[in-house]
Amino acid sequence: SLPCRSDATAEKEMTLAIIKPDGLYDNYTDKIKNAISDSGFRILNERLVQLDEDAAMSFYAEHSSRSFFSDLVSGPVLIMVLEKENAVADWRTLIGPTDASKAKITHPNSIRAMCGKDLQRNCVHGSDSLQSAQREISFFFKEKSPGSGSMGHDEL
Ligand code: GDP
Ligand code: MG
Repeated sequence: SLPCRSDATAEKEMTLAIIKPDGLYDNYTDKIKNAISDSGFRILNERLVQLDEDAAMSFYAEHSSRSFFSDLVSGPVLIMVLEKENAVADWRTLIGPTDASKAKITHPNSIRAMCGKDLQRNCVHGSDSLQSAQREISFFFKEKSPGSGSMGHDEL
């Protein structure tokens, strides 16, 4: 018969979480980190960084033509790599829908319901696919190649 896979050997996945400037300003970091560990994620790596507008634009490449993009993550942000089984989908579930004002009604236990305000100020980011997660983790954590220039995020 096939060997049973225990939890210890089950395949882990990584996703990128960000506490956006609005979440940091309102001091939600501890509550968010408690929700993260209570839900079985492990924080593998974290960095507090200051994103300038160019870095914010390249992070949100798919939104860079829309007027609100530069406000989204320009400023101080806490970047975290989260690990667990099914991390990408489970983190999206835990943060809740994009519009925090709606999340307060439809997903009252979600992180965005707890600390977000509206469609733009929703306090946290989560990668939307495994592919996005890999791109976003590399954006913040891969060593810069020589001559690649500043990525525009300064360690705080
Ligand atoms: P997410 O994956 O749930 O974060 O949502 P999206 O990828 O669609 O958008 C990225 C971020 O842009 C959201 O988290 C919001 O902060 C912001 N955003 C999305 N849609 C809108 C919008 O219609 N208006 C404004 N002002 N901000 C938006
Ligand atoms: Mg998105």
